[in-house]
Amino acid sequence: MKFLWLRGTSILVSASALVLAGCGADGPVVWPISGATDGDFPLSSTFGPRVRTDDDVYDFHRGIDMAVPEGTDISSIAAGRVSEIQENTSAGGMLVKIDHGGYFSTYVHCSEVDVDVGDSVDAGEVIAQSGKASNGFAHLHFEIRKPGDNKADCVHPLDVLPYADKGAPTLEIGKVDMTNPLEPKVTITVRIPAGELDLRRVSVATFEADAGKILEDLVPLSQRDYDIEAWNRTYTSSESDVVIDDPNNEGILVRPQKYNNTMPSYEIDFTFTGLVGTVTSGLLRVRAVAEDARGNVISVESQ
Ligand SMILES: [Zn+2]
Repeated sequence: MKFLWLRGTSILVSASALVLAGCGADGPVVWPISGATDGDFPLSSTFGPRVRTDDDVYDFHRGIDMAVPEGTDISSIAAGRVSEIQENTSAGGMLVKIDHGGYFSTYVHCSEVDVDVGDSVDAGEVIAQSGKASNGFAHLHFEIRKPGDNKADCVHPLDVLPYADKGAPTLEIGKVDMTNPLEPKVTITVRIPAGELDLRRVSVATFEADAGKILEDLVPLSQRDYDIEAWNRTYTSSESDVVIDDPNNEGILVRPQKYNNTMPSYEIDFTFTGLVGTVTSGLLRVRAVAEDARGNVISVESQ
């Protein structure tokens, strides 16, 4: 555990190496395009909330996208057995799924598949050629499902894929709307560096305390979490994406910046309602927290 205190803005960073990346249960794990083990990859979209670049529509993305020319080799990320092949997916192209014993990896929009159901594959073994989605975008859509094989089992692929950990995302507390001081609305902004699109959770807590008082020892008046994996488990149903694809679900408004693989960072605003405020507006203090897939935590407090 490593702590960094910056006076004035009260930023707490803890880096805990809870996840040992790059080592699957059955051996090494590599990236499906580059075969890299250090995250040398150009993601054009990450796991969780996003605004699609082609039609400006908000949706919840259950995988990561890698923009590559059609016909690029796609490798199995780890040893396993081919459990499913779909010839024509509604999203465009073919799908291959590998069962790694404990989790599944899925490769979508393939133009060609080079293995059969039941085949054993090794980490880095070529299993398919990349293709394009039905909207024409040439890329690999990659998912990890764990422990089961349903859409609700999708977890952040960066829980499994190896990459160099560069620390926590940056976090700012923006507007605190005190129109009704008993029900404040708090907007926070998270920026995740392009080489590490691994945001997993944000939360906001409210406190009644004098300016400058350490919040650590106080019981919050209220706290709300947006845990991206838990959100998927809770709100994904096999029948419909209506609930999870609402950017204002459960009183948490999610506004992602449009993102592509040429941008230095991915920015998302979250506006939390349903918080408990104070009768005396001057005593409201706010703490915001963001956590990434490696367990890095950043905590910011309003003064
Ligand atoms: Zn995708």
